[in-house]
Amino acid sequence: MAIESFNPYTGRVERRFRAFSWSKTERILAQAHRAFGEWRTTSFAHRAGLMRRAAALLRERQDELARLMALEMGKPVVDGRAEVQKCALTCDYYAEHAEHFLADEEIKTEAQRSFIAHEPIGVVLAVMPWNFPFWQVVRFAAPALMAGNVGLLKHASNVPQCALALEQIFHDAGFPPAAFRALLIGSDVVGKLIEDNRVKAVTLTGSEPAGAQVAATAGREIKKTVLELGGSDAFIVLADADLELAAKTAAQARMINAGQSCIAAKRFIIEKPVLKEFVAKMKTHLLNFRPGDPLDEATQYGPLARPDLADELTQQVEDSVKQGAKVELFGGQSKPGTALFRPVILTNVKPGQRAYEEEFFGPVAIVLEAKDADDAIRLANDSRFGLGGSVWTCDVRRGEELARRVEAGAVFVNSMVKSSPEMPFGGVKKSGYGRELSHLGIREFVNQKSIWVA
Ligand code: NAP
Repeated sequence: MAIESFNPYTGRVERRFRAFSWSKTERILAQAHRAFGEWRTTSFAHRAGLMRRAAALLRERQDELARLMALEMGKPVVDGRAEVQKCALTCDYYAEHAEHFLADEEIKTEAQRSFIAHEPIGVVLAVMPWNFPFWQVVRFAAPALMAGNVGLLKHASNVPQCALALEQIFHDAGFPPAAFRALLIGSDVVGKLIEDNRVKAVTLTGSEPAGAQVAATAGREIKKTVLELGGSDAFIVLADADLELAAKTAAQARMINAGQSCIAAKRFIIEKPVLKEFVAKMKTHLLNFRPGDPLDEATQYGPLARPDLADELTQQVEDSVKQGAKVELFGGQSKPGTALFRPVILTNVKPGQRAYEEEFFGPVAIVLEAKDADDAIRLANDSRFGLGGSVWTCDVRRGEELARRVEAGAVFVNSMVKSSPEMPFGGVKKSGYGRELSHLGIREFVNQKSIWVA
């Protein structure tokens, strides 16, 4: 894929970039590897000072960064600024907590002293997607840099300017220039990088095929991976739920980033007695979302990131309808090859249909009817994915019990699924493995070394 900024709203190419040659890529890798030798010896206080400066720069540049996202992948500027603020919050969070998260952990044994030390491992390669061009990277980079690692970013090919803007922020904040670099390379070079001895681990956020390929290469090289992959998360509504709130939140949860979020609610599993009313309410809320120019402050959802993604989503909807799904809300593309996609609701979704089996990465709400709570859990778990689900009921204790039964990395009761710096984030099943954020995230890429003093 060409490395270029393509504006999905205007259909114009904004900028083209020449991919780095292997020799340039290799030179940057060598610099990063050398920089690690020194960076690992710096104090937490020093790193925290730089990380706080990065947070301040993110806040200062939020308008400019939001504009870049709008131009490169169609995110409305209001949402773009919120994304950048969340990145700043996360930089501050790790600046404050990294030292404590990585402190020696004393273990009582027969030794005079025994403990776990957490040591950085070196160059970590991050392969990242376009949907949250700053957030996905910062949730890797902030803990990695605070732990004493250095990072190389291979961002998605359609967001090169976002990648370079983030590199600039870390440099301007005072991090050693080689400690965080963006590589403008295609996915074909990723394998060669993983095979290089100087790359110690890989984190990938993206699709299942990309994750499988990266993990296979890393597996051959005996290198650790963290995979944050797709989701088709369940939004379970029981008959006793606050239906109005559930339906309003359902529409918001489906429309995050024009539906292009791994943790967006995708399958709405509704108890039979309230299904009709729920769908009617959700439809009203979905119709209230205002599409438009991502640069316009009033826009609530923009185009999908690329026209081919909208074409693919249309195909998934059409195939599902041929297979028996019913269209409850007509939306979609106005014509093939265009990126704007209006919300769609599908009902009568059954096993074997694409809508039942696959992730729909755009504003299509898939509604499934559940006979009762047990049936709802069965349907929720009848999925290859398991990222984040939600359960809606007035009985909070029952909500917690059901949350434990959902096969997912996170379950929210009476709330939409969100990521936050304090809580671990990640999936089970084909949604991936490993955790980002929280104290667990920062420990993924450290050597958890046992030290025993006899
Ligand atoms: P994608 O095609 O897998 O791309 C993600 C990144 O992987 C890009 O940098 C891409 O580079 C690279 N890549 C693609 N194929 C590769 C390969 N064979 N080897 C090495 N690198 C490869 O994913 P996407 O379509 O952009 O993103 C949507 C998917 O990501 C959805 O499934 C979504 O659910 C998932 N996602 C998951 C999370 C999470 O936290 N779990 C968050 C966001 C998105 P190029 O751009 O150069 O192809």
